[in-house]
Amino acid sequence: MSLLGPVEVRALAEKLNLRPTKKLGQNFVIDGGTVRRIVRVAGVTQQDVAIEIGPGLGSLTLALLPEVGRVVAVEIDPVLAEQLPLTVAEHAPELASRLSVVHADALRVTAGDLGAEPTVLVANLPYNVSVPVVLHLLEALPSLRRGLVMVQSEVADRLAAGPGSKVYGVPSAKAAWYADVRRAGPVGRNVFWPAPNVDSGLVSLVRRDPPATTASREEVFAAVDAAFAQRRKTLRAALASWAGTAAAAEEALVKAGVDPSARGEQLGVAEFARIAEQRPASAPRIAAGRPGATRPS
Ligand code: SAM
Repeated sequence: MSLLGPVEVRALAEKLNLRPTKKLGQNFVIDGGTVRRIVRVAGVTQQDVAIEIGPGLGSLTLALLPEVGRVVAVEIDPVLAEQLPLTVAEHAPELASRLSVVHADALRVTAGDLGAEPTVLVANLPYNVSVPVVLHLLEALPSLRRGLVMVQSEVADRLAAGPGSKVYGVPSAKAAWYADVRRAGPVGRNVFWPAPNVDSGLVSLVRRDPPATTASREEVFAAVDAAFAQRRKTLRAALASWAGTAAAAEEALVKAGVDPSARGEQLGVAEFARIAEQRPASAPRIAAGRPGATRPS
């Protein structure tokens, strides 16, 4: 088995006449050390079924295949999706039967599309949709127990931030609904082709039960969205339209045991769940949406 280095990545790109696009976040890893590190930090075993989002030219896929029972790779680019089995057949023929490729948009993929129940997410994510992809997969794939993803460094900080941190926000609170999220190391720019103009970081996710609450996930996320839509305002003001009026927001906050003069950035997801439970029945209806639909990061 051989991994892809700069020479192999360039040759494949040339063969496919590939022009990496920003729109699809196409930055391919050209460094064997980096993909080996991702797989090591992911702590996968032969019992795992890994889902890889955006396998691209296969750099990470080739490092993952020997270490897990199966890889389900979801790729949106039809040319890359078609090429991947050929690349694996060439570089790791003995492992080719472990791979299935699904040509789909990771933001819409469902458990039924995969033909397997993934236990672990291992991916170098497309950076423009990394947060919605992570949230969508945690919601859509209950079999997923943990994950190790590479994202833009700033997004890694936001995903892993806790209440009180300057970068704590919607991605942090929503990710915490599903998982214990931690930064798992920095990654430089030169391991990619083309090199992105931002640094990257690894993020580890370990599934945990959501807070015990009578509110639904959608109701809790609506409270989070409302609180952070105007993050500099007090919760009493920020939640006014969510509750109907500022007075109704204040009443809901007090019932939830939350100081109405606090700000959203001070609250953990369990507190948002308590607030959601107290939303008055008379408040305007909340439109349903995808779990990560608020803001692509
Ligand atoms: N894993 C490869 C690597 O490490 O070299 C490529 C990673 S590259 C940062 C992101 C990949 O995600 C690209 O192959 C791109 O085509 C794919 N992609 C972008 N948006 C996607 C989406 N919504 N669903 C599935 N794949 C997507």
